[in-house]
Amino acid sequence: MKSAEFFHECGRRGMPYTADEVRIFAVASGVPFIIVHIGGNLFNAGFRLDSKPSSEEKKAVKSALSAAGLKCHISGIFMNVRVKVAKGSDAATAVDTVLAGANKAIEIGRNNGIYFSDICPYCGHGNTDAVMCYEKSTDRFQLSYRAVHTECVNSLRNAANEAKVNDEGNYFTGIIGAIIGMILGVVLNVAVIFGTERIYAMLCALIPLGAFFGYKLLKGRMNSFAIVISIICSALGAVALTFGVDIADSMINYDFTFEEAILLIQYGMAEMPEYADAIRSSLLQDLLFVGLGVLCCIGVLRKNTNSGKAAYAGNLYATLRMKDGSLPAPAVNTVDDTASHGA
Ligand SMILES: [Zn+2]
Repeated sequence: MKSAEFFHECGRRGMPYTADEVRIFAVASGVPFIIVHIGGNLFNAGFRLDSKPSSEEKKAVKSALSAAGLKCHISGIFMNVRVKVAKGSDAATAVDTVLAGANKAIEIGRNNGIYFSDICPYCGHGNTDAVMCYEKSTDRFQLSYRAVHTECVNSLRNAANEAKVNDEGNYFTGIIGAIIGMILGVVLNVAVIFGTERIYAMLCALIPLGAFFGYKLLKGRMNSFAIVISIICSALGAVALTFGVDIADSMINYDFTFEEAILLIQYGMAEMPEYADAIRSSLLQDLLFVGLGVLCCIGVLRKNTNSGKAAYAGNLYATLRMKDGSLPAPAVNTVDDTASHGA
């Protein structure tokens, strides 16, 4: 059984799956769960429970499932069920087998007091009508497939799209914030480079991060300009870093004043070729490291713009299914977000 065939069969039946073809988001008997192909003819159906089962309940479920030929492991609020597919079966049979195993596990679980996901993570209430991906950085597995209310997710997605359409930020105050944030990042890097005589790409990431969150803090418009200004500030930051280290060296090790240190740089650049060469090569190194720093954090920056947030909400929304596995009816009064559906 090839993984890709299994995933495509699931996709044909309307189940969403991750682009890396690792997780399938499925729903059986109204319960959301995640299918993973462990390898060979072995699959795992992972359920998230609304409450921790007692050890008696765990024992009862385990033995009832093993009598039905299914291995099960319950840890906290996570229940994993292993489903074996007969060797040589085609993708359609394999999917049927896994879904049948999941249905069996849900039936046996319910009979033994297991509460499968029915509480909406957005409002905290039960009586949900749909399932959707939900991500929380404090969760053990971050991305989970959860029971939700279509009403809750629709209002959430509309809020994200409206923020994207009606961005009321101010470029001017944002740019000031970006410059202040960049300077803070540079000062920190100068201190570390001066103290340890080393440069770190991870610390250099503080320069674009400082610029971006400075821009955000001073209410810049959170569109793609936020990223452009952060990158421009980072390039300026690399230049400031090069001269900053040089100025710190003159002031601390040679007791020059700030003005004298600047004069020394001007003199050195004009009259001393070795000095100019040394500055140029450290500038090149700083640009490289700040560039690496930008690469380290570009994902965080993208995710924090309004268009990034709307696209992210759109990606989660693409995994919304009704409890019978069918697609949701198109929501009324939504802001058009056709541009934000890319995975
Ligand atoms: Zn809700």
